[in-house]
Amino acid sequence: MTSEILEKKDLIKADPVFGQLSFNDHEQVVFCQDKDTGLKAIIGIHNTVLGPALGGTRMWSYKSEWDALNDVLRLSRGMTYKAAITGLNLGGGKAVIIGDAKTEKTPELMKRFGEFVHTLGGEYYTAEDVGMDTADMDLVRTVTPYVTGISEEIGGAGNPSPITAYGVFMGLKAAAKYQFGTDDLKGKKVLVQGIGHVGETLVDYLTKEDANVVIADINEERLQAVSKQYNSTIYRGADIFDEEMDIYAPCALGATLNDESIAKLKARVIAGAANNQLADENRHGAMLKDKGIAYAPDFLINAGGIINVYTELEARDRDWITKTTENIYNTTLDIFKHAEQNGLTSHQSALSIAQQRINDRKKQNKN
Ligand code: NAD
Repeated sequence: MTSEILEKKDLIKADPVFGQLSFNDHEQVVFCQDKDTGLKAIIGIHNTVLGPALGGTRMWSYKSEWDALNDVLRLSRGMTYKAAITGLNLGGGKAVIIGDAKTEKTPELMKRFGEFVHTLGGEYYTAEDVGMDTADMDLVRTVTPYVTGISEEIGGAGNPSPITAYGVFMGLKAAAKYQFGTDDLKGKKVLVQGIGHVGETLVDYLTKEDANVVIADINEERLQAVSKQYNSTIYRGADIFDEEMDIYAPCALGATLNDESIAKLKARVIAGAANNQLADENRHGAMLKDKGIAYAPDFLINAGGIINVYTELEARDRDWITKTTENIYNTTLDIFKHAEQNGLTSHQSALSIAQQRINDRKKQNKN
């Protein structure tokens, strides 16, 4: 026991910063503090080879600063790969504000945060994430232009959720095509877990394709409303992973794919909006591959939202948004084929293709 503690202490001493947590080639991590407003924030810039880092700000009551740092490191890296695989000229970044969004968020705090974003001179663009809404981004916009997800009246691209749902639907159809040989969803039993902003629109698309849609949520009111509107079945069992289904669409929380759930899962396809669905990206990606389940990588198929906000940085029309989001279908199919040819999981395949794009651009930039 003592030697274990010593070993950990020695490790921290040797690599107190870059050797810890989820540091993984991050370019910059900025700690922002302001006593007057109570702001404590961390901005993580993972990679800017393809363009300025873009990613939302999350306000959360983290158990510790350590947890907050770990979260921003993990999330900012995810944004790098999401932008790269989608073909956008954006890097990956993210910010976290430590605190309770319901009780500790004030206009002064948001503006002060915006001032810190401004000091980065456009290396990082912020946006909404958990605990933030459009009004918060509008406040940030009063002190810096380096923000997206602002109101439509002041040049914002509008609600990203419908376009995110469309991308998820494209990815789901591509995964079905790969697994079942057809992307016709008629009669396929699809369980949508989480029928919030994205999940509900996905239910709409699936219903229009005559899929057999089953919905699960912890919010009874939403279950009633969505079931009534789309005539979908409400899941009433104790554990969705005991349910027979063709397709599982996680649209609520991350990390639902773990040792226990994968062991039980009967679906042949997984495609949903939730971020970080694999509790452990290597271990659980491999378990899914071994079970012959076609898993559409989350960061690829939920990119509709970032495609949408991209138009706040570069003038593009609705048609471009739709076409780029539709292309998620082709990319998802390519990923499955690439994974099969190279003995990789679909998640590893998507990461490696994204990394290749970054490496190629880095070479070009040097020449
Ligand atoms: P939301 O908050 O509108 O909806 C989430 C829904 O999940 C809610 O109805 C909630 O009651 C339900 N839920 C929570 N815990 C649950 C549980 N344990 N079991 C079943 N249901 C549960 O969120 P959203 O905007 O629809 O996003 C859904 C997911 O997609 C999130 O993980 C989000 O990070 C991700 N995502 C969203 C977007 C977007 O554009 N909104 C973009 C990319 C990724």
